[in-house]
Amino acid sequence: MDGKPLDLVLLGPVGAGKGTQARRITTKYGVPHIASGDLLRAQIAENTELGRQARIYMDRGALVPDDLVIGMIVERMRQPDASRGVLLDGFPRTLAQARALDRELEDENRVLKLALYLEVPFEVLVERAAGRWTCRTCQTTYNYRVNPPRKPGICDIDGGELYQREDDRLEVVSARIKVYIQDTVPVVEYYRERGILRQIDGTRDIEAVGEEIERQIESAVW
Ligand code: AMP
Repeated sequence: MDGKPLDLVLLGPVGAGKGTQARRITTKYGVPHIASGDLLRAQIAENTELGRQARIYMDRGALVPDDLVIGMIVERMRQPDASRGVLLDGFPRTLAQARALDRELEDENRVLKLALYLEVPFEVLVERAAGRWTCRTCQTTYNYRVNPPRKPGICDIDGGELYQREDDRLEVVSARIKVYIQDTVPVVEYYRERGILRQIDGTRDIEAVGEEIERQIESAVW
């Protein structure tokens, strides 16, 4: 790589495979994985003021207001480990967030290299998300059908207990996917117009999707 920061956005609704692919990208390219949903859940777990406010929206599958999310992400992006680039997952979800991200990068003489959009049909997303279990300690997700843990109920990575997130229940999942598609289409178009959007067929297996993502990153950066 040319030594410049590698700033990437991973787009796609819940169940599109973002978490799994994000871990792969982070390992390969050494940029921190910044997932807005994980950061918000950490705020809830710590019972901060932000967490208490965010929870009201998250429990019903709605988007947390822009100002809360933008403040949280900008703060995270200013930490030292983010100076060589970031992989954003779950952010931006609205045009206001996309513009705030541009401003933040511009302030540091950086520019977004690529927006990777993992595309999966609605029915497949609902099915995948509803079978999803998350590790209580490291947040790794599993799917009992396509990506099961080696031992049922136990995380492969750190042995943590797997649980089904409140917002991964079927009704909430369907709402989250609809909200995602509705709110994020403008973000997808925004990046398409700028020529940095890459649409990726997320219905293929994890390895095939991962390889295509790497090809896209390498052709955009080198
Ligand atoms: P996720 O883990 O990305 O599926 O996010 C879980 C929930 O957190 C979403 O359903 C939203 O309520 C909230 N959330 C996460 N990221 C954002 C964001 N960028 N903007 C607004 N709300 C968000």
